[in-house]
Order: sequence, then C-alpha cells, then structure tokens
Amino acid sequence: MSSSSELVQSIHNMRRVYFDNNATTPVLPGVLEAMQPYFGEHYGNASSIHHHGQETRAAVERARESVAALLGCLPSEIVFTSGGTEADNLAIFGTVQRAVARALPVARSNDHVITSTIEHHAVLNACRHLEQEGWEVTYLPVDCRGVIDPNEVKRALKPNTKLISIMLANNETGVLQPVTEIGKIAAEADVCFHTDAVQAVGKVPVRVDELGCDLLTISAHKLHGPQGIGALYVRKGTQLEAQMHGGRHERSRRAGTENVPGIVGLGKAAEIAREALERGDYDLTELRERLERELLKMEAVTVNAGGSGRVPNTTSLCFNGIDGEALVIALDLKGLAVSTGAACSSGAIEPSHVLLAMGLTPERARASIRFSLGKQNTSEDVEFAIRLVRETVGRLRELSPVWDNAPGSLESHAATKLVARS
Ligand code: PLP
Repeated sequence: MSSSSELVQSIHNMRRVYFDNNATTPVLPGVLEAMQPYFGEHYGNASSIHHHGQETRAAVERARESVAALLGCLPSEIVFTSGGTEADNLAIFGTVQRAVARALPVARSNDHVITSTIEHHAVLNACRHLEQEGWEVTYLPVDCRGVIDPNEVKRALKPNTKLISIMLANNETGVLQPVTEIGKIAAEADVCFHTDAVQAVGKVPVRVDELGCDLLTISAHKLHGPQGIGALYVRKGTQLEAQMHGGRHERSRRAGTENVPGIVGLGKAAEIAREALERGDYDLTELRERLERELLKMEAVTVNAGGSGRVPNTTSLCFNGIDGEALVIALDLKGLAVSTGAACSSGAIEPSHVLLAMGLTPERARASIRFSLGKQNTSEDVEFAIRLVRETVGRLRELSPVWDNAPGSLESHAATKLVARS
C-alpha cells in the first residue's frame, strides 16, 4: 500500500467521537425504522381522501399527538414546519403581521418587540428584518453568567409591545433562561410570548403550561430525529398570520404538502424523548460534569456559563491563549468533533455574539469551544475527549506566541472558574 492510501485508510479507521450534538444529532435507529415505510409502501399525500392518503394522514396525526404529549399541549396546537428556523419565523412574523392586520385600516408597523442579544440567528435576523420594516426591537442584555433578568423584560415593556421572544436554552452555553417568570410578565401585560425551545426539548422536561408561553419552537434534528422538520406550538386562541400561502394544510397555518416521513420521524423522536425523560434515563449531566471537571483542571480554562441551570449535555469552555478554530481543526484531525460558536461573516471569523453578550473579550470568545453530548455518547468517549483535548491544547499553547505573552491573569482565571461554574 502506498503511503497516501495508508493515510486515507488510517483516517477511515480512526476512532471518531461526536460532541457536536447541539449542531445536529444522529437519528436513532427506532426513528429511522419508523420513518422507512413512509419512503416506500406508504406514499400517499396526507391530503388525499383515498386509502393511501388516509394512511399517511393517520401517521401525521399520530405524530402530532406524540409531539403534543411531549410538550403537554393539545395535538391541534401543533403546526409542523420545515424546522426550527421556519417555526421561529412563523412565530415572529405571524404574530406581528397579525397585529398589523388587526389594526387595519390604520395599520401600524412601528410597534414593538422584545427579544435578547443571545438568541439564535433564526430569531435575531427575523427581528433585524422587522426593524428594517419599521418595527422597534429591544434586544435585552444578559449578565456574565449568560442569564436574562426578567425585570429587564418588565422594564422594556411598552404600550405598543406586541411580542416577547426569549429562548429557553441557549445553543452555545446551554444556559436555561427564566422563561417561566418571563411568561408571567407577558401574561400580566397581555403580550404574546414566544420561546425558542429548540435546544431544551428532549433534554429537560418542557411543558407549555408551566412556561406560560403562547408559542414554542422545536426542531427534530436536535432530539435525534431527522433534519428538515420541526414544529411550532400555537396556544389555542393565539392569532397567527400564515407565512406560506397555498393550500389549507395545518389548519391554514402552514401551507404545503406535509413531509410525512419527517413528521413521523419527529413523532417517534418525541415519543422516545418523553419516555426517557419520564424514566429519568436521559441525563447526560454525569458525563458532562466529568468532562468539564477534568478539563477545568488544566491551566487557564474557564466555563462560559452560570446561573440557575443548564441543559445537561452542553458545556462551553474558554481555553485561554488558544485560537478556537485551530483547536477545532486539530481535534477533528484526531477524531473529536466539537465546535466554536464563531460565525463566518464576509469572509472574517466573527467571535460568538452570545459570548460577547456575556462580556467576554473577542480574544476569549475566540478561544472558546462548545462540547455538546448526545444519547449515543459513552464514558469512553468522554475519556477519549479529555485525553485528546489536554494533549492538543498543550501542543497548541507550546506553539503559540500569544500563550507566551498571555496576560498573567491566572489568579483571575481561577476566580472566574469559581464564579462561572453553574
Ligand atoms: N433555534 C436554536 C436555539 C437552534 O439551536 C437552532 C439550530 O441550531 C435553530 C433555532 C434552528 O433550527 P433548524 O436547524 O431546525 O432550522
């Protein structure tokens, strides 16, 4: 064998550990099995009245019941979408456009929306678009633990506030937001309340009545279901303007032939997640804590989180003196998949908006890595990651002129460690 084919062979044989489950999760075998017949023998359009259509309609409605059971709502309150991004957009534009439509003939597009600086871009960019249309948007700050203060929501309310959109769990840090308290504030003020729960559903119990939300977003591929399918919970009575115009699918709230295999996959993933949460056997806290504890023993490593809690699978760690992109690439070459929260905009790597909002300097934000675990991960995976990260960070720091010149703030790192642990 030539040396290049040996190299290719060794890459194929390499042990690979996937710790990027907040980006997407592998589809569970049970989910795949449930979906398979809907790519083949059960191919009817769920809107058709004949046998084939009835068969797929029944599957869609069973999936709706399963999603509703996971969220503690009525099946009729679930609207299937193409994923979390579409559900967020439907929630935001659907609510504000409805508000404008109801204000006719004096349509006002200069009303007010409250969101936060740490939302996913599906919410942030939808809000930026609203601003271009003349809406006023308040982006609430977070503290250094990554938590929004509910009092800030109260203070931001205006007589013309039409929507509050605050996420349940942050995708980069895993930090849970005080959504129940925000839900109460929204209800008192009679303002529609949306929460993006994409990173929380399936990881912690999520019940819409406990949260007090009117709208809630989920996405199948974050809970071991397929990509390209999600749902919006719409509380009965909530006024929502459809964003897709076409047939009367999803009770005229989202036009378009249903993605039956995807919906079936989401329904099965929701069923598996609900059963696991009820049994209490989907708790990755122990694995996450071990990983975090061991990596925090390294010099100048801190956790980017704090507050009342996090989803059990996520930790965002800052490796001072390291370039996060370089670390992600070096780890990937050795078989560990993790991510930075960085986004590539106009060819430049921008540090994570979430970490900057928490008050990290751009250097520290760029030195941060997100580890997100999934159902498939084992304690062997964690040991593998600990060893690899220690080795790789050590090597990168040896090579790094920045590390040599790193501000001598090891005491302050130690202090941050204490403060930032959640
Ligand atoms: N909201 C959050 C918090 C997310 O993490 C994501 C995806 O990463 C989305 C929304 C978008 O979901 P989707 O990928 O299904 O469009």
